[in-house]
Amino acid sequence: MNSNESDKAAAASPAPAPERVEFYRHNIGPAEIEAITRVLGTVFLSTGPEVAAFEREFAAFVGVPNAVAVSSCTAALQLALAGLNIGPGDEVITTPMSFVATANAILYAGATPVFVDVEPETGNLDAARVEAAITERTRAVLPVHLYGHMVDMRTLAALCEKRGLALIEDSAHCVEGQRDGLRPGQGGHAACFSFYATKNITGGEGGMLVARDADLAARFKRLRNHGIDRDAASRYGARYVHWNQVELGFKANMPDIAAALLRPQLARIDALLEARRRLVGRYDAAFSDIPGVRPLKVAPGCQSAHHLYTLLVPADRRDDILWGLGQRAVGVTVNYRAVHLNRYYRERFGFCEGMFPVAEEIGARTITLPLYPTLSFAAQDRAIAAVRDVVTGG
Ligand SMILES: *Cc1c(COP(=O)(O)O)cnc(C)c1O
Repeated sequence: MNSNESDKAAAASPAPAPERVEFYRHNIGPAEIEAITRVLGTVFLSTGPEVAAFEREFAAFVGVPNAVAVSSCTAALQLALAGLNIGPGDEVITTPMSFVATANAILYAGATPVFVDVEPETGNLDAARVEAAITERTRAVLPVHLYGHMVDMRTLAALCEKRGLALIEDSAHCVEGQRDGLRPGQGGHAACFSFYATKNITGGEGGMLVARDADLAARFKRLRNHGIDRDAASRYGARYVHWNQVELGFKANMPDIAAALLRPQLARIDALLEARRRLVGRYDAAFSDIPGVRPLKVAPGCQSAHHLYTLLVPADRRDDILWGLGQRAVGVTVNYRAVHLNRYYRERFGFCEGMFPVAEEIGARTITLPLYPTLSFAAQDRAIAAVRDVVTGG
């Protein structure tokens, strides 16, 4: 509506609507605006010095020697699978409790996703059930650090080592997390991160691959640029040098524009996490006395990145609760309904209800509440009051 229409609407409504509690707000501020302004003044807006600096800083933050910046986490997952030579005929064990990107990446590789059910307390891939799903075709395990809570990487890494499998981490939710002394990328062969608009730090879009192995990381660098043996920036030196495509790669490089937005956010990521942690503590305290609702648990020895705050509510009331929160101007989402129950997966693979009951139950009961560092306590209190009101039948 134009401003006149909105004026009329405002005049016609008797009371001001309660201020909406947005589901998400980014935290781009003066430091990011200054950084992007600086990059816009340079000649080359694509993958250049800003990306190289972000890669160095990110590698240092997660404590993995090699980082390769890409256009999305989905692309990172594709490159990880391709770089580890996973393709047609191969099976990859993964979780049904994730965004579809995780399993889709396995399909893009031409491989077959094999779902293993999740832990009821955390929603994470149940490491204790993975071995039973290994066949002679299994080539990799692809867990997700759900909501920022790392899976049991020590158990999975030992199993993958023993069975000769690749271990790829979907760490889209987890830049800041740690578990049992490991950060993402320190236990697997590759870890994939997302800087999509709603993630803990964002470039609008963007992703990162980290790998302990330098040769593997070099291959990822090539794969993000069509499989060409030099990157674009190094093709514009003083003296022209021919480049060569040596394998079939992808177009998945990160531009300097996104890296400029991401570097200042990474520099203050500890403070951003601290703000998330405070909000999570307030949510946990508020919901502890509401019958029928339960937050997921954080395992001992685990520092969550607190990407999403989810609450389990009664399955038969979940959709009404979502609707009721929307009515009360609180932004909510669902992360996630189980992947295998999507129509595409049902039709292609014959999946149905009952195959992964724990993931299905979480998928039927979960709601996600607003959680981001600029969420004020007052706005959070409005969200909490709305949940209490809706859940207790107000
Ligand atoms: C967001 C997300 C992705 C995909 O990230 P993009 O950067 O949007 O490609 C993959 N896995 C999980 C678990 C996600 O939440």
